[in-house]
Amino acid sequence: MMEYRRLGRTDEKVSTIGMGTWKMGVYRNPSEKADEVRAIKTGFELGINLVDTAEVYADGRSEQVVAEAIKGIRNDVFIATKVSAEHLRHDDVIEACERSLRRLGTSYIDLYQVHWPNPRVPIRETMTAMEKLVTDGKVRYIGVSNFSVQQTTAARDALAKSEIVSNQVEYSMVTRWAEADVLPYCENENMTLIAYSPLARGNIPQSRIPKKLTEKYGLTPAQIMLSWVTRSNAVLAIPKSARIQHARENARSVSVRFTQSEYDQMTKV
Ligand code: NAP
Repeated sequence: MMEYRRLGRTDEKVSTIGMGTWKMGVYRNPSEKADEVRAIKTGFELGINLVDTAEVYADGRSEQVVAEAIKGIRNDVFIATKVSAEHLRHDDVIEACERSLRRLGTSYIDLYQVHWPNPRVPIRETMTAMEKLVTDGKVRYIGVSNFSVQQTTAARDALAKSEIVSNQVEYSMVTRWAEADVLPYCENENMTLIAYSPLARGNIPQSRIPKKLTEKYGLTPAQIMLSWVTRSNAVLAIPKSARIQHARENARSVSVRFTQSEYDQMTKV
């Protein structure tokens, strides 16, 4: 069974496990594209409602893969996409959003994220454009990605009436720097941390996952990694999989929860 969490301070219920789509859209033949679409659809069928993409992924073709997967179910899913760091000037944000909407085949984006900070563009200018998109009904929620706590605070201060609901950063059993400040900040401020590369980009440290736990719960090492990374209520994870079998496995990773002491055991190794 899928687990759902509130996005930031909103009433929006988003699945704890979402789906990433980096490297999707670089298929060499139509059957590979069909596999990607099927993997995303499989995730939706199993209760996932969050899919994450970006204008830069495969030059926009990742968004087109998502467009195919959401046909007929647009209002039941939650689409997160991103504006690139080189498009953060006011008019560039608006135009990038229009292009993403066209590629996604939808009239609105649920979560529009600033992909990377760009110190050359005043954050106020970017956030003014983001708020205009919200006012115009093209974007529902504003998020950031790869922002430090300080950059997140600046982005929040630059918004007149909206909130930053999430910060998407790398977080997994293997990459844990977010625990120093981004994660505690999100927890304290009721903001969501969207964990990217939660499976360490596929380099799953099999030998370091306690066998006792995989056996006790009948879970795979990948499922344990996803359960561990989402042990805080503030976290959602977006593993990417172009394979149906993996999409199923990932969707089922939080159907059971470990005890605190078991999570502590995993943290130690
Ligand atoms: P990831 O999700 O940690 O790992 C993906 C890799 O793991 C793929 O090679 C996939 O292979 C494999 N995999 C998936 N499920 C598996 C399972 N159950 N068992 C074994 N292997 C499995 O890495 P990621 O793609 O870097 O990160 C996830 C998403 O985060 C991206 O797709 C993107 O949406 C987002 N992201 C955002 C940023 C950012 O700057 N904001 C940066 C990086 C990534 P198969 O496809 O063959 O299943």
